[in-house]
Amino acid sequence: MSGKIDQVISNIIRQEMRRERETINLIASENYVSKQILSVVGSILTNKYAEGYPLKRYYDGCENIDKLETVAIERLIKLFRAEHANVQPHAGSQANMAVYLAVLKPGDVILGMDLAAGGHLTHGTKINFSGMVFKPFYYGVNRETEQLDYDEILKIAQSTGPRLIICGASAYPRIIDFKRFSEIAASVGAYLCADIAHIAGLVAAGLHPSPVEFAEFVTGTTHKTLRGPRGGFILCRESFAQCIDRAVFPGIQGGPLMHVIAGKAIAFKEAMSREFRLYQKNIIENCSFMARGFLETGYRLVTGGTDNHLMLVDMRNKHITGEESQKVLGSVGITVNRNAIPFDPYPPNIASGIRVGTAAITTRGMGKSEVAKILDFINEAIEKRDNVTELNFLKKRIKKFASQFPIYAK
Ligand SMILES: *Cc1c(COP(=O)(O)O)cnc(C)c1O
Repeated sequence: MSGKIDQVISNIIRQEMRRERETINLIASENYVSKQILSVVGSILTNKYAEGYPLKRYYDGCENIDKLETVAIERLIKLFRAEHANVQPHAGSQANMAVYLAVLKPGDVILGMDLAAGGHLTHGTKINFSGMVFKPFYYGVNRETEQLDYDEILKIAQSTGPRLIICGASAYPRIIDFKRFSEIAASVGAYLCADIAHIAGLVAAGLHPSPVEFAEFVTGTTHKTLRGPRGGFILCRESFAQCIDRAVFPGIQGGPLMHVIAGKAIAFKEAMSREFRLYQKNIIENCSFMARGFLETGYRLVTGGTDNHLMLVDMRNKHITGEESQKVLGSVGITVNRNAIPFDPYPPNIASGIRVGTAAITTRGMGKSEVAKILDFINEAIEKRDNVTELNFLKKRIKKFASQFPIYAK
């Protein structure tokens, strides 16, 4: 070891540790990993170059790394009952990029969910590579139900002729019908990529239908509901194994992050446990309980409720924008993000809604009584948003409340 600890960085980490402990995290895409995962991600495995795949490396000295990646792949295949798995994508965006590279050519038509309706940047947004390299078309949600309208999606698919359809979302509170998507894709001769970045934990636990038997490609992140280290993964049919692996390396990435892959392997094992299934069940229960609470106190929820780990709260009944809500709640120690609601009259940086998720608070061991408290905190913050003294007092109470709960997954 080279002597002194870097004070600048260790102070920042200490401050971040305090922030995570003392605030209530309702960001739907975040979570807390177990201590075991934390420690392997901070291990010597970060030292190793391992371009290639097990037993086919471009570097020497990979005998241990080969075993590690093989374990991770086998566990991921077992967890989702997939035919083939790639654990190397650095994040969810890279997983999607690899799928596109594997089956598309520049200029090909893709059909994805509109970012404004709940889709992801990588599903064809103009400011993302996916919208620059390919020709994107979008589907949204139905104006009345605010849910996916499969007949409408079929019509858009028929009129645009995509080579690839992407389903899956970052801000959609309802079950996604992957079977229906696969029928639509098949009817227009498109491949289907199901992006389960948000719901991977729910799918692994059998609490959201799995797309694995319906989609040629399934992509996801390991750090959202799946509660692993920050990273991505791809599942596919055996017939696409080689082109997917080649698209990840050498297609878009160099050396894999072996310390992160070790963390992924642990997360996949954790996700097979009964405790994990119970955890996922609790996320959904906390979420529907919180949704009822919002409805009872006069908020409107997009689609009227939730089936999964998140909800979109339309703040217009409370005469406050998403941006202001995020700011006020942030100032008292409740972290959420502003989010457009379908057909939002405001631009996305202001937005009418907030996205609220329960995966992180559930990891901290919070249940219904804590969710009820959090709802009270939110209501109080929104009501007293112009009263700095009251907000400061509330912040102290929230700090005391949050500090009682550990920030590590058991
Ligand atoms: C979070 C997310 C991703 C990937 O995100 P990264 O930040 O690149 O890991 C991809 N698709 C969807 C739907 C997401 O929600």
